[in-house]
Amino acid sequence: MNGAAFFLVVNFVVALSFSVVFVVVAMRSHSRTAAIWLGVGFGVASLSAICELFVAYAGPTRFWALCAFATVLCGMAMLTIGIAQMYGRSIPLPIASLYVLASVMLAYLIYELPRGTPMQALLYQGPFALVVLVGAMTVMLARQRTTLDLFLGILLTITSAHFVGKAGLAVWVGSGATAKDYVYTDYALISQSLTAVLIVTVGLTLLAKLVLEILAVHRTESEVDSLSGLANRRGFERQIHEALRQCRRGQHAIIITDLDHFKRINDTYGHHTGDQVIRIFAEALRSKAPQGSVVGRLGGEEFAVFLPQTSVQEARRLAQTFRLATMSLQGLPPALCVTASFGVAAVSSADDLDMAYRQADVALYRAKGAGRNRVELATSVGQSVAAPC
Ligand code: GH3
Ligand code: MG
Ligand code: MG
Repeated sequence: MNGAAFFLVVNFVVALSFSVVFVVVAMRSHSRTAAIWLGVGFGVASLSAICELFVAYAGPTRFWALCAFATVLCGMAMLTIGIAQMYGRSIPLPIASLYVLASVMLAYLIYELPRGTPMQALLYQGPFALVVLVGAMTVMLARQRTTLDLFLGILLTITSAHFVGKAGLAVWVGSGATAKDYVYTDYALISQSLTAVLIVTVGLTLLAKLVLEILAVHRTESEVDSLSGLANRRGFERQIHEALRQCRRGQHAIIITDLDHFKRINDTYGHHTGDQVIRIFAEALRSKAPQGSVVGRLGGEEFAVFLPQTSVQEARRLAQTFRLATMSLQGLPPALCVTASFGVAAVSSADDLDMAYRQADVALYRAKGAGRNRVELATSVGQSVAAPC
């Protein structure tokens, strides 16, 4: 077996391995269809190496040469469809199929042309360059682009350009007098080794993109409380730190709230109604909290609202709005009157957060001790605000 044939086998194994890995990743990915397109794309493209070996060592040459062309192009079109889906775009299947069909017909028509002429080489490599360029443009034009996306876009652009480069190389060093001679040329060795490098880099980059996406989804899920739909304590704290990183200056505030006599609600109306109260109360907090604030369920029937760029007096007024809204929650048994107590504290920096939590907590328990259904400020100037249910 010569060098080029060896690389053909390597490329077959590598592309097939990526195919299997993408199909496996698809089971866990939210971009399942995209991952399946990528997996099948790599699988179909891997077959071209086998076809090339048939061209060199078995017959009929023309048939296998066209199969090699068709499988690479079809695989690449599938990869491009998968990439487009990953970036929220769609490539119509009929157009992609027509493109592949027309290109295979073109390859059939130019088969008899002398190999290694600029026209033959460009007409042969052009369809590959174009299909990969569509993938590259899709990535480059994505609205939100990370460094990984940029890397993928550049990589795909290089891959597209490398097909044009291969056309030049075929003219320069020659790609063999006939398709059967291809595997014995230096051109085949360079071309197949370049293909190996590009399969691995593009494959690994796409894989990294899918894996990062799976991790991001897991992180989001692990930071959301399933009953209320609000951030749980972990998510709440992470979001506060993020908000504080974005606006270091200014005065911020935190409100901690706890439903009053919740145990009594559970005992009187049952856990199902208790859960319903948590859901509806959470929704009331979410809908009344200003944009940019962070609302979370810290645990049980305790919730918190972080208010960036908000004075403690504004926060107190908002807590009062929450308190009044709690007394008129909709969708609960008519005889049930829900109330909540609130503690408000100022937050000046991320270092101050623990202290602010404690102060708001102390204020909350002061509100409980003073008869519940109240808002208490953590400061000494704080005044409680209360109303009968
Ligand atoms: P206080 O006014 O002093 O806060 O009294 P409370 O009854 O609200 O507080 P306590 O800590 O005595 O009881 C809280 C209850 O909340 C006990 C617990 O079973 C219930 N609880 C915690 N999480 C959930 C939940 O997810 N669903 C339901 N239905 N109940 C919950
Ligand atoms: Mg309570
Ligand atoms: Mg509690």
